[in-house]
Amino acid sequence: MEGEKMFKQASWNEPVILSKGRKGRRGHLLPKAEEQVRQTIGDINALIPDRMRRKTCPKLPELSEVEVVRHFTRLSQMNYGVDSGFYPLGSCTMKYNPKINESLANLESFSMLHPCQDESTVQGILEILYKLERWLAELTGTHEVCLQPAAGAHGEFLGTLLIRTHHELNGEGEKRKEVIVPDSAHGTNPASAAMAGFNVVVVQSNEDGCVDLQALKAAVSERTAGLMLTNPNTLGLFEKNIEEVAKIVHEAGGLLYYDGANLNPLLGKARPGDMGFDIVHINIHKTFSTPHGGGGPGAGPVGVCEELEKFLPVPRVAFDGKLYHLDYDKPQSIGKIRSFYGNTAVLLRAYAYILSLGLEGLKEVAEVSVLNANYLMKKLKGIKGLALPYNSEKPRKHECVFSAKPLKGDTGVTALNVAKRLLDYGLHSPTIYFPLIVEEALMIEPTETFEKEELDRFVDAVQDICEEAYTNPEAVLKAPQNTSIPRLDEVRASHPRTMALSWRMYLKKQKQEQ
Ligand SMILES: *Cc1c(COP(=O)(O)O)cnc(C)c1O
Repeated sequence: MEGEKMFKQASWNEPVILSKGRKGRRGHLLPKAEEQVRQTIGDINALIPDRMRRKTCPKLPELSEVEVVRHFTRLSQMNYGVDSGFYPLGSCTMKYNPKINESLANLESFSMLHPCQDESTVQGILEILYKLERWLAELTGTHEVCLQPAAGAHGEFLGTLLIRTHHELNGEGEKRKEVIVPDSAHGTNPASAAMAGFNVVVVQSNEDGCVDLQALKAAVSERTAGLMLTNPNTLGLFEKNIEEVAKIVHEAGGLLYYDGANLNPLLGKARPGDMGFDIVHINIHKTFSTPHGGGGPGAGPVGVCEELEKFLPVPRVAFDGKLYHLDYDKPQSIGKIRSFYGNTAVLLRAYAYILSLGLEGLKEVAEVSVLNANYLMKKLKGIKGLALPYNSEKPRKHECVFSAKPLKGDTGVTALNVAKRLLDYGLHSPTIYFPLIVEEALMIEPTETFEKEELDRFVDAVQDICEEAYTNPEAVLKAPQNTSIPRLDEVRASHPRTMALSWRMYLKKQKQEQ
């Protein structure tokens, strides 16, 4: 394959912007704005009380416009994103998000809103949030949805607090202390349960990669507060006994939590609420078109059954038939889990995405995301060195997990090495070493947004790399070579002592090193 030879990432020796500044350089002129302010509200300096005025100037870099543009263009050339090519990071749903949603979310009528504005002046955004709640309730089969959580894990935390509150109110708070989590769950599930004060009980998967019903029956008891189920699970498999799982937990008095972070494959096709689940979180930044990576911002709305609605955080967006308002009068609410009303700019993108696709479009998202994952799975299955654990004949949903264990045994080339070598082809690597129940895991999620040619390019690259591992393993072991930065020292790169997370830390470190 020629791909590897054709890709070469730009490499600039680009310093941090703070060290590029030169005193007196400007990228803007502001007199007009200053004059406008003076005309409308008078002399600003006279309006701000002395004790609140800044005495020293912030140490910002001073640069011309073209320097700023060049700086960020260069950095972008050394970067890789969904706009550059394939990005099959399993479980993360790194899909292409239509640019029109960005434009809509950036409209001034939204971006200039202030959360403290009077309700009468923000009817538009309240209507959008209200309608989005209705749509997400419809798509998840839940009764009410809360848009506040800022991420999937935050939604899980809210969900587990709801489980706790439910049992406390029934006088069973002391007794029901265990949350059951299958070993194929996303890693945030046990973490969230623990944060809400629960003990985590792990149940194993059977050879089909689904929850082992016997193990589940043995795990439930009067101590069970609930079960957190990731579906499709991290192997990309739909829990085939999901209704039976729900029944077992409900009969034991536990609540059912559905991790729907990866809703893509089910959109418009199946609803967690219909499967018996009491609480569902979804990830707006995965399924509903907010770009992510690098930490946010995101949104992890939570849908609940009728019985749990009264516990949802305040305020709730309400509609009296004429006007929208924010309802704080919810005496049984668990309170607030986030300032104001959630990441509205992220929620706006979801609104635009759903509105532009419609139900038929959302169904197509589900169909193509599943088709792409299964196409890739079939194509990769024949490659020497890779195995497909857990029922290799069973179709997957949005992703599939291969194991590079045979390759490692034969050649010494690991999943990490394969991932690094893929970068040399101008491709992003899949998620590796997750889920933990697959050794040398390569977790691949193509999403519905990449075309067949791009999927084929990935398959050809994996094929090339595996062949290379048998003939010239050294080349794979020292990859990547074609990227702006060669192989990182994984330990050093993530060690707090070597990281400089701010300009101040950076300067301090420089001084120490001198
Ligand atoms: C991504 C993901 C999460 C966590 O979502 P964040 O927004 O990263 O907190 C939880 N569960 C599953 C299955 C996921 O894929």
